Amino acid sequence: MDMQTSLLDRLFDAGLLIDTGVDGLYGRSSAFEDVIQRFEGLISAFGSSSPSEVIRFPPGMNRSHFEGSGYMKSFPQLAGTVHSFCGCELDHVNLLQCMAEGNDWTKDQKATDIVLTPAACYPLYPTIAKRGPLPAGGGLFDLQSYCFRHEPSKDPARMQLFRMREYVRMGTPEEVMAFRQQWMERGQELIAAVQLPVEIDVANDPFFGRAGKMLANNQRDQALKFELLIPVTSTAKKTACLSFNYHQDHFGKTWGLTTSDGAVAHTACVGFGLERIALALFAHHGLDTADWPAPVRKALWG
Ligand code: ATP
Ligand code: ZN
Ligand code: MG
Repeated sequence: MDMQTSLLDRLFDAGLLIDTGVDGLYGRSSAFEDVIQRFEGLISAFGSSSPSEVIRFPPGMNRSHFEGSGYMKSFPQLAGTVHSFCGCELDHVNLLQCMAEGNDWTKDQKATDIVLTPAACYPLYPTIAKRGPLPAGGGLFDLQSYCFRHEPSKDPARMQLFRMREYVRMGTPEEVMAFRQQWMERGQELIAAVQLPVEIDVANDPFFGRAGKMLANNQRDQALKFELLIPVTSTAKKTACLSFNYHQDHFGKTWGLTTSDGAVAHTACVGFGLERIALALFAHHGLDTADWPAPVRKALWG
């Protein structure tokens, strides 16, 4: 049995995660949720020195915003759309018959105006652009959302529905780069505070197809993405638990987002994979939080 299966099985056995029959789709126990809530408190404490606007979007976003973001160009394999039955009574009869016969009843479902959010920051850019130019000094936002990615896996750290906490900075290139640098340092301090081993490395997103290889290489060469890695299911293949992304003027151009003096805004975000951090804590400190080292308990529960 490989390491991954065994951590997932141990989490199921301990009741921390609850099997739904679908890889990457789990229920969470109150102990698991408590760790996530406490860790989010720690994130907020580290982020509190810079005032941010708190916004919470639901886990679905406006389909036209999703389309405009270019997500399907880069990551068509990960996206999840929301489809619904939009037919008449006869269509309903046919639907039920189709289901009763065990045939594919989903092919006549119609796309709704909602797409599952792939990353917590995607709904933010068009929302802020609609307000007009950014104020002097730019903007800083605090987000958290369940996100969907179609990447079913037995690796408990690769879920299909998981939460991402993010801070997003919008402004001049200098403002945005300073933000990212600051969070790369804070992120390491944060993880050290809960006694997990950390490593930072340049990274790339899983761009689709052959053209995607070039985009990935470009992202690495320009050091646009860094990841904070923690061993969770394997010490050889560490898991990205935080990521630090510089989008340059991509979202600024896409949504017409400008700084106070009319220049195209640059953006960056830091994303915390909340389930991955919780899993790292359980993997390193044990499945019972009562047994965690005192300094870790103090950092989380005070
Ligand atoms: P990976 O390289 O492991 O696929 P990623 O670099 O694609 O992850 P990002 O797109 O940067 O991830 O997302 C921000 C954060 O969300 C990641 O740092 C990670 O902690 C978390 N995350 C991403 N995908 C998943 C997933 N499938 N399950 C749980 N957490 C995830
Ligand atoms: Zn983001
Ligand atoms: Mg990655």
